[in-house]
Amino acid sequence: MSQPYRADADGSAFDFRHIEAELARGYSDPFFIIDARLVREKARRFRAAMPRVFPHYAVKVNPATEILAALHDEGVGFEIASRAELDVLLGLGVPAHEILYSNPIKSHAYLTHAIECGVTWYVIDAIEELHKVHAAKPDANLYLRIHTSNEGSVWKLSNKFGAFEDEAEQLIAEAARIGAGLAGVGFHVGSQCKNIQNWPIGIRASRETFEKMKAVGLEPRFLNLSGGFPVSMGDEVPSIEEIGKAVNRELENISDSVHVVAEPGRFMVADTGVFVCQVIGTATRDGKRWLYLDAGIHRGLGELSNEFRFTIHTDRDGPNIPWTVAGPTCDGLDVCMTDQPLPQGLQAGDFIYVHDHGAYSAAYANTFNGFPIPNTVVVNAD
Ligand SMILES: *Cc1c(COP(=O)(O)O)cnc(C)c1O
Repeated sequence: MSQPYRADADGSAFDFRHIEAELARGYSDPFFIIDARLVREKARRFRAAMPRVFPHYAVKVNPATEILAALHDEGVGFEIASRAELDVLLGLGVPAHEILYSNPIKSHAYLTHAIECGVTWYVIDAIEELHKVHAAKPDANLYLRIHTSNEGSVWKLSNKFGAFEDEAEQLIAEAARIGAGLAGVGFHVGSQCKNIQNWPIGIRASRETFEKMKAVGLEPRFLNLSGGFPVSMGDEVPSIEEIGKAVNRELENISDSVHVVAEPGRFMVADTGVFVCQVIGTATRDGKRWLYLDAGIHRGLGELSNEFRFTIHTDRDGPNIPWTVAGPTCDGLDVCMTDQPLPQGLQAGDFIYVHDHGAYSAAYANTFNGFPIPNTVVVNAD
């Protein structure tokens, strides 16, 4: 296990000695260990790939304060969906104008709090929300989230959010009628998007929406490419540089007066660390071997599944056999994978290292059955 782990094909590496040092302090519960320097590298790489696109990190993906602080230090802005996310950022000294409120449906209480704190940009994708935000803050800067292709994305978002064309047109007309500050357009291609074309498609649709806004006297000056930038979890994904090329080319058709932002979440953190957990028991059921971990669907491994098999390693050598991998709770759904090849000799007490599971990990966990949410340990957070 003293092999340094290559976190990233481009040369970043998570040093396994950080894990050894952490385990030497004693182990009781699963944790995610992340290298803040690798997070900083990801931010720089994103900016280099798309110089015109200003990144706002999606806080929900991994809200560890050291990560937020490192990204703030790198000059990255933020995207929030709730009051708690906003308050953490303000506590770190992030100015309110660098924060986008990008949750399409906001509670009145959270909206009022964000307004009081000085947040200026709010997303809308429905007429009711336009009226809600406009009534609470007549001078708010609004951007319209349009429905867009999520083809080729692992986690689709277009089923829940985004105005379709005719709804967008009604919304634009209504914004002009009531004098709301509708000044931008955004779209989300879906998380872990492997289809480069979704970004140019979204940018073209945004440009068409800009034209409709201009036709009723609105002045578009903001474009939000949102998230979806993928990280390889053993699967083939386009690099950020390839996506950047397609995005940059399409942005040549967008006026220089338009401020372009994105909201990368997964890309910034997923492959900057390792999730460490432990085998708590093994069993044979109906002739199949079962591996029970102290982490699972509810506890930090929410994305681990038959579709999404992260790279996993252990301290044991093969031969491998197919295991059904399950979490520690009494929930029948708490089964991560079936037929996952892992060493035959695994037994209670062995450590399991899951690579690249730094996004939607502890942030997506809950305390079901009384198992605490995994800790996030941040190294090099200077
Ligand atoms: C979740 C989310 C993101 C981040 O998406 P990733 O796929 O993790 O990059 C960005 N913007 C909004 C509005 C989101 O809900």
